Amino acid sequence: MKLTFLGTGTSHGVPVIACDCAVCKSSDSKDKRTRSSAYIQIDSKDNSHKYILIDVGPDFRTQALRENIRQIDAVLLTHSHADHLHGIDDLRNFSCIMSNKPDNPQNKKYDRPPIPFYTNEGTASDIKHRFNYLFSEKAFGGGHAKISLNPVAKTFTFDTIKITPVPMMHGPLETAGWLLTENTPEGPRSIAYLTDCNYISDESIELIHKECGLENGGRLVHLVIDGLRIKEHSTHFSFLQALEVSEKIGGDHIWFTHLTHNSSHIQTTAYIEEHRAEFPGLATALSILPAYDGLSISTVAE
Ligand SMILES: [Zn+2]
Ligand SMILES: [Zn+2]
Ligand SMILES: [Zn+2]
Repeated sequence: MKLTFLGTGTSHGVPVIACDCAVCKSSDSKDKRTRSSAYIQIDSKDNSHKYILIDVGPDFRTQALRENIRQIDAVLLTHSHADHLHGIDDLRNFSCIMSNKPDNPQNKKYDRPPIPFYTNEGTASDIKHRFNYLFSEKAFGGGHAKISLNPVAKTFTFDTIKITPVPMMHGPLETAGWLLTENTPEGPRSIAYLTDCNYISDESIELIHKECGLENGGRLVHLVIDGLRIKEHSTHFSFLQALEVSEKIGGDHIWFTHLTHNSSHIQTTAYIEEHRAEFPGLATALSILPAYDGLSISTVAE
């Protein structure tokens, strides 16, 4: 299983519009942060692959072009904030209702099954309300994306992997973290993708440990965690809070995402290095680093 960070930025993205700070003006490519999203490749049957998108933010179009995305078999949504959802119309290129004229050749080109969206109940109902045109059989002009909504509260199987929605709090809003677990000859291998959040309950942490199969040789190979900035925030983990919750969750490799323009990649790396010893449980982590756009991580050592 491989995860590519399509975006690692907070809702504003970095650079922030009309900001002249050092990070927004930085020439380091790791300081260019589009809105947070991830693209996951899993091994399917018959040596083929399936592809899962986590969130479809306003930068989805440029991210898909950059990473040459050609296939999306499912979308996992964390929540319905604009920075995670408002690229939804650009899914037309993957599955589309083009026209209500049955002989329109465009219909054939895009005649694929609807893309299944998995998310929690609240986000599903927001999508129905906000994007009601997506659930109409009528389409005019450029058509609209064809999706199916699947509210989920429990672990389910998708192709060869197990997917678990992890309830988290993002201020007053319940969001869905996602745990993806594949079976390998060495035991279960998992990636947890946990943004946007500022609180993860002990029950949710226990759920992660259980579904990772830690007691049966399972490993949480990668933990992706919301780490906004140094200063505390009302709906996101600060860097220190992200380290604190990572200590409880565990993970061989820990990656911060949803980053602001308040710290550069180099500054964030140094800050983590300076503070990780305050959390003794993190001593076994092989790496703790800020993620960056375009970074790919895998459950198999390459
Ligand atoms: Zn966000
Ligand atoms: Zn700035
Ligand atoms: Zn949010």
